Amino acid sequence: MDDRTFRNGMGKFATGITVLTTEIDGQVHGMTANAFMSVSLNPKLIVVSIDERAKMNQLISSSGQFAVSVLSESQKQMSMYFAGQFAGNHDVDFISFNGMPVLENALLHLTCTVYNKHVAGDHTLFIGEVTHLRTKEGTPLVYHEGKYKTTAELN
Ligand code: FAD
Repeated sequence: MDDRTFRNGMGKFATGITVLTTEIDGQVHGMTANAFMSVSLNPKLIVVSIDERAKMNQLISSSGQFAVSVLSESQKQMSMYFAGQFAGNHDVDFISFNGMPVLENALLHLTCTVYNKHVAGDHTLFIGEVTHLRTKEGTPLVYHEGKYKTTAELN
């Protein structure tokens, strides 16, 4: 099958949207990712899949830690921004959670240390051990068939 057929098929699986963050020498880097899932309860593990070409791949390998912000439906602009879809650099106000930068108003904040990583084709699976977690009420931003949707639009 060609890449488009594969992408279209995978797009049938509706996901939430996260912004991953890490920090090295006081420099924060963020990146949009929807390849995120819970993996294990004991220990508490999650996984994210990051393209080998993304700067984030090397940065998480170096820092050994990252944070996850699960976006609410009001944060579409943040998702587009951290996917590099707006020109130029904007100032983003990160807040600190357990010493890691995260996005304000997200529904879930996680901080993780890298537990393991596996190269899988042109991506790397970073398995993170969750060190801290906090949640906030709200409805999630949804990504389905290559489009952002609100939960109301899925009905
Ligand atoms: P860059 O492209 O350099 O950075 C991303 C953007 O964030 C740039 O605009 C940059 O200026 C800005 N930025 C970063 N840090 C800061 C900061 N501290 N202050 C201000 N601005 C900052 N790719 C994957 O590998 N895995 C996925 O699961 C995945 N899911 C995606 C889901 C969606 C819905 C979309 C739209 C894209 C997804 N991508 C995914 C693609 C990925 O988000 C982009 O390829 C991204 O540009 C790669 O980021 P990068 O680390 O190379 O950094």
